[in-house]
Amino acid sequence: MELLHSPEQFRAACNELRLSQKQVGLIPTMGALHAGHASLMAMARKSSAVPCVTIFVNPTQFGPNEDFSKYPRTLEADAAICEAEGVALLFAPAASDMYSPLDSTRVRVSGLTEGLCGRSRPGHFDGVTTVVTKLLALAGPCKAFFGRKDYQQLQVVTRMVADLMLDATIVGCPIVRESDGLALSSRNRYLSPDERGRALGLIRGLLAADALFRYGERQTAELVGAVERELERCELRKDYVELGHAASLEPVEVVGDAAGAYVLAVAAYCGKTRLIDNLLLGSDP
Ligand code: AMP
Repeated sequence: MELLHSPEQFRAACNELRLSQKQVGLIPTMGALHAGHASLMAMARKSSAVPCVTIFVNPTQFGPNEDFSKYPRTLEADAAICEAEGVALLFAPAASDMYSPLDSTRVRVSGLTEGLCGRSRPGHFDGVTTVVTKLLALAGPCKAFFGRKDYQQLQVVTRMVADLMLDATIVGCPIVRESDGLALSSRNRYLSPDERGRALGLIRGLLAADALFRYGERQTAELVGAVERELERCELRKDYVELGHAASLEPVEVVGDAAGAYVLAVAAYCGKTRLIDNLLLGSDP
């Protein structure tokens, strides 16, 4: 595995991979890697792409009162995980390498970014789409792997790549969970033991709503209410609970019968830690 810090070296290394008839499998991350990230690397290998991981805690996607400065930075441990997962290139640039002092360009996707996390984190998705565009520009033609854990991000990036006609195939990958259901997240390491227990309110709420859906409930208010009750029970502070079309994220008042056609998404604070999770009604295990 090659550990690269300079964008130009990363660009050259991706070009070299393609010259030797290999497909670049881009996996953008912010580091503090866990089994969720490793599943993206496995997915790249499975789809015959060479896993190329980027680790960059992107300043432009954090709001002024968010956890940018305390976000875990664990490059050595991350490199060991990448090595074990057969990663060929690990690109870990400095912020000054990704944003020059003259930097004045942002990529913005409208519509899809307005609800859910976009509403509570203004500017967040502009930071995400800008840095993903830069990473795709460096990587060149590739497959790029994103987790459905960040469901809205996956839809936004997919839209952006289509709209800008970028030479990348976006692959969405399933959410990896702890055995008790908590979605893996780098932010889980902020949780105290008590909070770790209460954090299960997100998945429990989603599963309660999913059970109602399977019994025939079609009213959004009822389905959302089931999630909210579980958040309250676990003393989690709701940021949002929203139900919308799986592709457009457009909110709906009544859902149809089709399994997997609607996404139920939740964000909630567990102590000071903001956690997110989601489920496609009627389709997830
Ligand atoms: P992050 O490092 O949090 O920016 O995440 C990098 C990539 O890993 C994103 O595409 C995430 O959606 C994905 N990811 C994070 N957690 C999980 C998880 N539990 N299961 C699947 N993918 C994940």
